[in-house]
Amino acid sequence: MKKENYDIIVIGGGPAGMMAAGRAGELGARVLLIEKNERLGKKLSLTGGRRCNITNAEFNNRLFLENFPESKKFLFSPFSKFNVESTFDFFESRGLPLIVEDRKRAFPKSESAEDVGFVLKKYIEESGQVTVKLNTAVKSFLVEEGKLLGVKTSDRIFRADKIVLASGGTAAPETGSTGDGFKMLKAIGHTVKVPDPNLAPLRTSAKWVHALSGVSVDDMTLRFLQNEKVGHKARGRLLFTHFGISGPLVINSANQVKKLLKKGPVIASIDFFPDLDLGSLDAWFLDLFEKNKNKILKTVFKDLLPKKVVETILFRPEFLIGDLKVHSVSKEQRKKLGHLLKDLRFPIVGTMGFEWSIVADGGVLPKEVDFRNMASRLYPNLYLIGDTIDINRPSGGFSLQLCWTTGWVAGTDAAEVK
Ligand SMILES: Cc1cc2nc3c(=O)[nH]c(=O)nc-3n(C[C@H](O)[C@H](O)[C@H](O)COP(=O)(O)OP(=O)(O)OC[C@H]3O[C@@H](n4cnc5c(N)ncnc54)[C@H](O)[C@@H]3O)c2cc1C
Repeated sequence: MKKENYDIIVIGGGPAGMMAAGRAGELGARVLLIEKNERLGKKLSLTGGRRCNITNAEFNNRLFLENFPESKKFLFSPFSKFNVESTFDFFESRGLPLIVEDRKRAFPKSESAEDVGFVLKKYIEESGQVTVKLNTAVKSFLVEEGKLLGVKTSDRIFRADKIVLASGGTAAPETGSTGDGFKMLKAIGHTVKVPDPNLAPLRTSAKWVHALSGVSVDDMTLRFLQNEKVGHKARGRLLFTHFGISGPLVINSANQVKKLLKKGPVIASIDFFPDLDLGSLDAWFLDLFEKNKNKILKTVFKDLLPKKVVETILFRPEFLIGDLKVHSVSKEQRKKLGHLLKDLRFPIVGTMGFEWSIVADGGVLPKEVDFRNMASRLYPNLYLIGDTIDINRPSGGFSLQLCWTTGWVAGTDAAEVK
């Protein structure tokens, strides 16, 4: 086998890999970027209906990371180094102005995902440090005596001090993301959560649910009803998205809901106070209202539930009571409020499949990654970025922002740290 040596090898020429390779090259490292497709950024060119929802224009790191309920604790560190503002600066300073649309979704002003790819390809080329090898699939890591030394293709060994794995996940496999990296990681001892096609977020046609996008509720019960009978029930954290509901509780229920949907219409019902029955909830409200009788109703609830949820329930067109003084809320209105909070209903119309790539289920467990530099906790010279890590997130530019952040942080560390 012929041998070639580099400082850094990046496996996968998607958005994360291109960012990492470009950054490491910019810092002077000799980089080999290996991509199995005939061109770089195949999936990237399809993103956002080919317009590329490049990031989400929430410039406050804390608010941005609220969209990653399970992983935000890991992500603060890389986002302190490269965040949404950095993404705007990166692309706009390279001649790609961005515009912001509804729900803070940012796109290139040219409305072309290909243009995003052009900026990244130029970034890779301009240092003169990055060699790109297309039509080349990495088959495995080269590990000797517990040390990661390089990668193997079908006919070659490439050695490097550092390896960056950016081979994506399993969403839209026709673009090259076929889960190769997951197999390679498992072979060297990493724990990879296997992507499950039955896991998916759920869609609703109820516009008021879409309007709650980005809101999460920590502990509630969700029931799925068919002909007024409970077909499935689960408790945990719920995340509202612009198409419906998500979060581990929903994703894990999707298989059961799919089965119910095959039989007929399904209604979801949220119980925001699962530990109280209706009577106890009403008794609690009576006490709460008595103590706050001169306050505006919506302010009484502000510490109990997320603001947007309170507003959605207290300002329903047929139940406009949010601005009432508490003492003028009638008994019927109080009881109806209790009912709504214990049984808030909306129709489920289907699941979101892999083809939407909304939740990239599967990947290496975040606890096996050191998010300060994106290095593996098992092999300090291996970096894991983009869709290779198991991080749930909603749609709206969040996936690509993860690529820009993790790619930049890994590229920087791999090039700078000897
Ligand atoms: C239709 C669609 C639309 C989307 N739209 C958006 C959007 O608008 N905004 C957003 O934020 N997110 C969007 N996403 C999600 C986003 O595209 C992904 O999160 C992102 O592409 C992940 O980037 P990555 O670099 O980690 O992996 P990928 O983009 O999957 O790139 C991985 C690369 O590695 C290569 N590769 C794999 N195995 C090997 C191997 N063994 N050897 C060599 N190369 C290998 C693949 O060919 C591929 O080019 C969309 C996804 C899809 C499917």
